[in-house]
Amino acid sequence: MAVAGEMLGPVLLDARRIRVRVRQLGIRIARDYRGKKLHLIGILKGASIFHADLVRAIDLDLSFDFIAVGSYGSRTTSSGEVRILKDLDDSVENKDVLLVEDIIDTGLTLHYLLQNLGARRPSSIKVAALLSKPSRREIAVPVEYVGFEIPDEFVVGYGLDYGQRYRNLPDIRVLRITG
Ligand code: IMP
Repeated sequence: MAVAGEMLGPVLLDARRIRVRVRQLGIRIARDYRGKKLHLIGILKGASIFHADLVRAIDLDLSFDFIAVGSYGSRTTSSGEVRILKDLDDSVENKDVLLVEDIIDTGLTLHYLLQNLGARRPSSIKVAALLSKPSRREIAVPVEYVGFEIPDEFVVGYGLDYGQRYRNLPDIRVLRITG
């Protein structure tokens, strides 16, 4: 009888590739927001590492904040019912907001956040996501900056977890889940 568990699979994106791509995104963002008041919002906890690297790649006078969300779904899929676990510290009114997300899967989390934060009257609101799984999308969400489009695999590392583990891996790896 097979025992339920998980096993680290192949490296999908190594630390060097991630570093190069994050730098490219930072340069693009700095160019697009020059002269504006850029306010980044990191979505905890998954985007924390991407956010930390991205802000250092943006050569602008910026500010940032964090929001934590959870879903009522299972551990590897999202139910679309999103709840805010930790709200923003600062108002986003009249700011140019860039939401920083780790991965867009069904799109339901981001859809909720864009509506919720959009109602708080920012000057603009856009999204930067390190990863996107386009084949899994259930709702269309506009994403201005995407690091990598990936196939429908469950991945961990560089902030992404499975049951709160693996966030500290420097590479992004496929996780094989059995049972
Ligand atoms: P969505 O609402 O379905 O787009 O789900 C987005 C959230 O699901 C992400 O912020 C992650 O927390 C989680 N998620 C989706 N796919 C993965 C994955 O492959 N690895 C780790 N977390 C994932």
